[in-house]
Amino acid sequence: MHVRPINVRTRLTLWYVLILALMLLAYAGTFITLVFLNLRKDLDRQLEQDYEIVEEYITAASDGSLNIEPDNDPYFHERWFDIWTTDGMLMYASRPFSGKSLPGVSSAEASEVGFTFHSLTLANQVRLRIMSGKINIEGQWFYIRLIQSEERLWRELKVYVQLLLLLFPPGLLIAGLGGYVLAKRFLAPVDRMAETARRISEKNLQERLPVHNTADELGRLAGAFNALLERLQESFDRLKQFTSDAAHELRTPLTAIRSIGEVGLQNRREAEQYREIIGSMLEENQRLTRLVDNLLFLSRTDAGSFALASEIIDVSAFVRKTIELILPLAEEKDQEIRLEGESFLRITADPALLKQVLLNLLDNAIKYSPKQTIIVVHLEAVDQNALHIRVIDQGPGIPREHQTKIFERFYRVDKGRSRELGGAGLGLSIAAWAMSALGGTIQLESQPGKGSIFTLILPIH
Ligand code: ADP
Repeated sequence: MHVRPINVRTRLTLWYVLILALMLLAYAGTFITLVFLNLRKDLDRQLEQDYEIVEEYITAASDGSLNIEPDNDPYFHERWFDIWTTDGMLMYASRPFSGKSLPGVSSAEASEVGFTFHSLTLANQVRLRIMSGKINIEGQWFYIRLIQSEERLWRELKVYVQLLLLLFPPGLLIAGLGGYVLAKRFLAPVDRMAETARRISEKNLQERLPVHNTADELGRLAGAFNALLERLQESFDRLKQFTSDAAHELRTPLTAIRSIGEVGLQNRREAEQYREIIGSMLEENQRLTRLVDNLLFLSRTDAGSFALASEIIDVSAFVRKTIELILPLAEEKDQEIRLEGESFLRITADPALLKQVLLNLLDNAIKYSPKQTIIVVHLEAVDQNALHIRVIDQGPGIPREHQTKIFERFYRVDKGRSRELGGAGLGLSIAAWAMSALGGTIQLESQPGKGSIFTLILPIH
């Protein structure tokens, strides 16, 4: 059988009504039981009083028979009792209600000591309460039973039960309706949130769910959802910005290649001029390749698919080799690169990433420093657990307001000059990412006109 899923509102109401019904049932059960016990106690008290009255007017005759003389008891004919000898022989029976015959008394029963109360239902469904026990009449023991009808007790009880049953359904109905209306009111914000959430797509990521009360559960849920939207929007914006920046950067070298080619095709030229044109095109191509490499690197870091190698590196030798790779660029500008500081340092790190960071820093130092300047790479172990590699240049320095921003993607202090020098503003953002992947940090100290010091801080162990 297919059961239609019911909504929270209805479920809450059903549970509420069910629990209420169980509670009311328990309450009614207790109430009816107490009423019953009370009424029966009244009946038993009545029987005890009957006993005291009946006891008064029984006397024994000399022949062993019993005399019953209800001198001044106006209710004598309504009293129902019988008297038995202790070996089970009926001595006397009053019969105020004809046709209601009681079972007899066995001799075992008749010889019991003390008074007992018990209930009995006759064959014709009449219910009786019986008090039975020993009675001493002028030195002789008899067994006496006093009887009262329980009909009035059951009639009263029935009225109570009927009254409760009558009140039950409307009570539950009112409670259920009230519960439903309340649940609907409290859950209404959920519908509104769902409706807003359904509307939100990448086009209106700035929309937020309505928060009515930040302190309650629904408000906290909406708040958490809004915070998620905030993060999504931020990363979406970053992605959009990155794509548009990347496209923009790619266009520049592509346009350059095309215009160099078009100029080259305009007139007939000497072979030497063609060589120069092809050389320029290759240079632009190289720039493009570097840019695409950087973009690929960044997209891999964003995707988190970067497996880090771990090797023991002899820092001094490693840095020297890296400097050798980039030395031709410095020599073109008559610059000198000096390696200074401690020589016997070892760290465990990913060599390819560390090389990338060093090359980016050295490339910048060479690019932005004037000709015939000195670039120093300084190695130092601080407190035995941190390695500091400083790249110190005598370049133009970086103004304070740009110092944190230059680590952002595509950020350049002087866009025109950087592009002229072949930069796309990605080198330092790659270096910063790589340093955090290596478990280290990168710091900058610089003042305009006084050069820059980039410090790489790496854990030694
Ligand atoms: P780019 O490819 O433009 O060099 P980077 O991310 O490596 O990109 O550097 C960002 C910007 O920081 C550069 O455009 C430049 O303005 C500035 N910069 C970086 N290194 C230096 C330096 N050694 N001296 C002066 N300015 C620098």
